[in-house]
This record gives sequence, structure tokens and C-alpha cells, in this order.
Amino acid sequence: MDSQTCSKCGMSNIYPDGDFLICADCGDERSVYQQDEEFQSDLSIKDANGNVLNDGDDVVLIKDLKVKGSSINLKVGTKIKGIRIVGGDHEVDCKTSSGQFMLKACFLKKV
Ligand SMILES: [Zn+2]
Repeated sequence: MDSQTCSKCGMSNIYPDGDFLICADCGDERSVYQQDEEFQSDLSIKDANGNVLNDGDDVVLIKDLKVKGSSINLKVGTKIKGIRIVGGDHEVDCKTSSGQFMLKACFLKKV
């Protein structure tokens, strides 16, 4: 607990008060339980087989997918290279020959 700095003003006059860390310079308070956003992105994203997906993995589609708001259909078996994990409802950012899409990990299989 040495390099605490305030996320607002960048000063390091942070002191703990109960469940909060308080900045003496600007009065910013934050909960000790949510110190950084990385906490959430730590959640692992799993493919249809339960394998953990990582940035840069190659995957194939296990299902035909219609892309919302377009006439594009992604066919089962389509290979997608170098996915990017972004989190949220559609966790995987995929670049295909038809464009860039956000897809659900449960429709993908790691190859
Ligand atoms: Zn501050």
C-alpha cells in the first residue's frame, strides 16, 4: 500500500477511512472494494466448449449468425483470426472478411 494516488487529482495524500480511501487534497472518495476497473475484466470469457478465450485467439463459428441491422450472415465454420476480448453482453470483437462484429463467446469455438 505504498503507491496509492488519487484518480482525480493525482496526489498521493490518500488515507483510509473505514471502507473508503479519501484524498486529502481534493476530497475524492472511493471504496476500497472497487479500486480498479481491471477487477471486472478479469472475468474469463469462455467459448462453447468452456475453453477460456484470450486476445489474439483464432475461433470458428459453431452456428450461423445473422448480424443485427444488416443483411450479413456469418456461416457456421467461419474462421475468425485474432479476436479481441472486450467484455459486456457481446464479449468478443471479431474482424472477418465481411466486417467487424461483436459476437457472443458461446457461439464460438477456439481452434
Ligand atoms: Zn485527489
